[in-house]
Amino acid sequence: MKIAMIGSVYSDGLSILEKNGCDVFEITDFSSDSLIAKLQDVDGIALRTAKLTKDVLEKCHKLKIVARHGVGYDNVDLNYLNEKKIALAITGTANAVTVAEHVMAMFLNVCKIIKQSDKLVRDGKFAEKSSLPDFFELYEKNILILGFGRIGRALAKRCLGFDARVFVYDPFIDASIIKENNCIPADFDKGLRTSDFISVHMPLNEKTKNMIAKDQLMMMKKTCILVNTARGGIINEQDLIWALTNKEIYGAGIDVYEQEPPNINNPLFKLNNIILTPHIAGLTLECRKRMAIETCENVLHYLNDRSKLNIKNIINGKKIGLEI
Ligand code: NAD
Repeated sequence: MKIAMIGSVYSDGLSILEKNGCDVFEITDFSSDSLIAKLQDVDGIALRTAKLTKDVLEKCHKLKIVARHGVGYDNVDLNYLNEKKIALAITGTANAVTVAEHVMAMFLNVCKIIKQSDKLVRDGKFAEKSSLPDFFELYEKNILILGFGRIGRALAKRCLGFDARVFVYDPFIDASIIKENNCIPADFDKGLRTSDFISVHMPLNEKTKNMIAKDQLMMMKKTCILVNTARGGIINEQDLIWALTNKEIYGAGIDVYEQEPPNINNPLFKLNNIILTPHIAGLTLECRKRMAIETCENVLHYLNDRSKLNIKNIINGKKIGLEI
């Protein structure tokens, strides 16, 4: 079986495929021409963040599975895969905890003004600590989690460990599941108005694009801290810049951007009340290992031995007629 790795994955994953006799090769040039030239006869693709468009997929005549190294799949033409009965796999068990920890790091970093305090000390202004703005606790605060899937639930657990009150908005999840997880089902607008911390954990799609824009930012408390580790565009970036500049909210933590990599002149970079990371919420060493293994197992088991496949990882199982 011929497998293409589009972008490199941790060696623990690669060796699973090699040990099982797969012919594995890596692609580092993600241009359409390069992908079309190299993918024509592959049986499977392990995919990091490169775009797999219909133009490219149409030329993959033997393709049976695309396995994402991660859980988001907005970089793949899913409609085309469904139409051609090609499986799309994700690493559903690998990265919720690590992303949830990243959100906690951002919540705490912003509410404890770690960045500003660090600068103060380095600038020799230790004695001027009273010049720092007010800063806050997570203790007994209202946290709103938007999207209660794998990551939303992992985050809820960690927030509850800090004795916070956790509210959840997810219209696709039964209220009883939210309550079973010791959280409180919330209305979207009311949740925005009453929360001290808000974190976004839904996929980017037509409905969620710009779900948080100027109107929603204006509903939030002036002391609210907003974090997005899901996908750029769910929070309108221009409106976020406006809200942070005008102190409509207290601060933000952003791991994902409308354009990645963001333009060097992006006004977000000039703001002090925001922590920025380069789409790394799911990239701790432990998580990279788990994702590499799960990605490659998804490919191998789908092609070789379906009895070992974690069927929940095939997100279009029903559409392609896989028995679930
Ligand atoms: P998931 O599929 O387990 O959960 C998503 C949840 O969002 C579901 O419960 C769904 O019902 C809910 N949802 C969908 N539309 C909604 C809407 N309009 N309003 C409210 N809720 C809605 O996904 P997950 O594994 O928890 O991942 C969540 C997001 O995190 C994805 O967008 C993924 O791409 C992103 N992610 C980012 C990183 C990173 O490195 N920054 C890593 C992993 C995942």
